[in-house]
Amino acid sequence: MLELATPVQYIKGIGPRLAEVLAAKGVRTVADLLHYLPFRYEDRLNPRGIAELRPGEMATVIAEVRTSGLFRTRRMPIFQMTAGQGRARLKCLWFNGTYLRDRFKPGQWVALYGKVEEERSGELQIMQPQFEILGDPADDGTDDAAQRNLAASLEVGRIVPIYESAGQGRLTARWFRRIIRTALENMPPEQPDAIPAVVRSRMALISPTEALWKVHWPDAGESLTDLQSARTPAHVRLIFEELFFVELGLEFKRRQMKAQTGIPFRLDDRARDAIKKILPFHPTSAQKRVLKEIAADMEKPYPMRRLLQGDVGSGKTIVAFEAAIIAIENGYQVALMAPTEILAQQHYFSARRILESAGYRIVLLTGSLEQDRKREIRRHIAQGNAHLIIGTHALLEETVEFAKIGLVIVDEQHRFGVMQRLKLMRKTNEEPVVAEAAAHAEPTKPAARAASEGTGNLVRPAGRGGALTAEPDVLVMTATPIPRTLALTLYGDLDLSVLDELPPGRTPIVTRRVSDERSSEVWDFVRKQVASGHQAYVVYPVIEENEERELKAALKMHKELSNRVFADLKVGLLHGRLDNDLKEQVMRRFQSGELNILVATTVIEVGVDVPNATVMVIEHAERFGLSQLHQLRGRIGRGAAKSFCILMTGGKVSEEGERRLEAMVRTNDGFQIAELDLELRGPGEFFGTRQAGLPNFLVANLIRDRQILEAAKREAAALMAGPNPEISQQEIDRAIRQMRIRWQNTYGLVEVG
Ligand code: ADP
Ligand code: MG
Repeated sequence: MLELATPVQYIKGIGPRLAEVLAAKGVRTVADLLHYLPFRYEDRLNPRGIAELRPGEMATVIAEVRTSGLFRTRRMPIFQMTAGQGRARLKCLWFNGTYLRDRFKPGQWVALYGKVEEERSGELQIMQPQFEILGDPADDGTDDAAQRNLAASLEVGRIVPIYESAGQGRLTARWFRRIIRTALENMPPEQPDAIPAVVRSRMALISPTEALWKVHWPDAGESLTDLQSARTPAHVRLIFEELFFVELGLEFKRRQMKAQTGIPFRLDDRARDAIKKILPFHPTSAQKRVLKEIAADMEKPYPMRRLLQGDVGSGKTIVAFEAAIIAIENGYQVALMAPTEILAQQHYFSARRILESAGYRIVLLTGSLEQDRKREIRRHIAQGNAHLIIGTHALLEETVEFAKIGLVIVDEQHRFGVMQRLKLMRKTNEEPVVAEAAAHAEPTKPAARAASEGTGNLVRPAGRGGALTAEPDVLVMTATPIPRTLALTLYGDLDLSVLDELPPGRTPIVTRRVSDERSSEVWDFVRKQVASGHQAYVVYPVIEENEERELKAALKMHKELSNRVFADLKVGLLHGRLDNDLKEQVMRRFQSGELNILVATTVIEVGVDVPNATVMVIEHAERFGLSQLHQLRGRIGRGAAKSFCILMTGGKVSEEGERRLEAMVRTNDGFQIAELDLELRGPGEFFGTRQAGLPNFLVANLIRDRQILEAAKREAAALMAGPNPEISQQEIDRAIRQMRIRWQNTYGLVEVG
């Protein structure tokens, strides 16, 4: 009998070497193997007769090999195989098919899958079909007749699972079929279902064992459409189960947080007046609503953990300042962290503009400051002279001691997920392990990640001694309009506020796409805008600031634009490699209107706010990701004047690139853009890196399964609310036990609970 946690190596037929190949696919245990689901299914119960095939359809055909051979065209070798059923014939072609030369023998039976096409001659053919030679002893590595019969019985006369192969094709779909079959036959006896009965019946869930069997070996009557779209009862059970325990863990975390001691801030008339005084404009109703949500959290006796989500330009900064005022008026300090120095500086200047008149003392603490200056600022912070401390990750990296920290605001957190945040928060709950936090971060922007992640040592008040200290509130702000599905998983441990309204008086940005052959027209247009008093960005795709070649191209274009095209205008340059003083200087000159045009890399992607800039030209727009394009575009359209985003493309654009550009031209809606981006790139890439801190899902797919996810979240919350007539304490305990095991196994987070 196998246990679910047994390493695959102990399954008959898998030795240490194959175990390694499987591990590369993320398959380490029997449970992993059983969740290695087919990516499609073939109906070999009712395979199609060749005679009844229709051009254009995807079909599985079982036929006999008649002839095969390689022929060469001028461009490439093509392998041709003709398969037959009685007198009917089907031609199969593979480009560059030299490798197939010795694959087929006349008389063999093969299963073929692909798109049926009709040749001009009327003959049917499939180009590049996927194929499987049925009952080929050489392929099994065995001549054993019994083995062969078993193999054959798994391969025809039923709906057959097709698995992604592994180890450069060494582990074929057939191999997986047999090994998974073996594992299924040796599965441990069914345990009591960890999902409570009422949830099972609401979701119409079948048992786990049945689900595992049927997802691999569907009943003959199962709908092929449901199978392909993962909507059979077996699929739904497995997907729901996976999502349910992830959501349960997140819900658990949330509740744990609420059980901690926080600071019950008071929102009295004084604080209200202070807020009213600073507001330079009428808040939008979304801003009012969101502030109310934040204030309500801040008043509670447990720490706030809230995500403020709002499209670019929706006015998050002022909401952050309002929250800061509440904390400061209560006698606490506030830390505001931004991912880049430019953004920290910008916040610093606007904070001083808006808040200083109210008597709040604001300091900027960034890595590039002189040591002496830093020391001095740190002293101010430790002595409580500074009320609002604005900075980058430097706030995390350095040993900053706060006199009385009450609120931590993390601006523009995106790309980072729940897993890192949980890890960091775990650290802060123990001892401050700031060095470690930095070491865990990515080599490229170590601290940016740490900074945007969590609170690091910021949540350690300076108070000495072992006195019970209250956790500060945390407000995380993101400009990336995270699709709801992702928000639920990535930020499932946070409460969510959404700014879904732009400040009044904005005219929608007009987005156009042009080929760079028409660049002179584009420059004329920029010139006209500048002549009417506006400013422009020209952005180059230096996506990784350490990419030498890209940076050179940007520098060259800057020269070209400043010396030739716009020789009479003031053109600035901003990129990540400039030293910080220079960056600041350039930014300030652009902000003050002294520079007409700013040539920049993606360093301006987040947060930069210059309302007078009305044009953005993005060169090689096809190279940017969709969300990134949207973020960039968010730098314009911030004032009343009409703004224009011009996406220039150079050279050939991929199909996916086309979809991105098309979406940008079609809509300004960040949520729509984010949904499409998520679809195009998948959740892992959506947040920039594979290790984006998304839970690793074995069977669930956040795009396909968003409805199941919402249901899982709902049910998880209901369960955590405690026993009721529907759910017993015993069921709750069992579910939580299971959740702990899963989180432990998957994320190594023991202390969920
Ligand atoms: P983001 O949400 O992208 O951080 P900002 O906070 O930078 O947006 O705000 C974008 C611009 O809109 C800023 O110039 C800000 O002053 C302005 N703004 C914010 N709220 C309002 C409002 N209620 N009315 C008018 N302008 C506003
Ligand atoms: Mg912002």
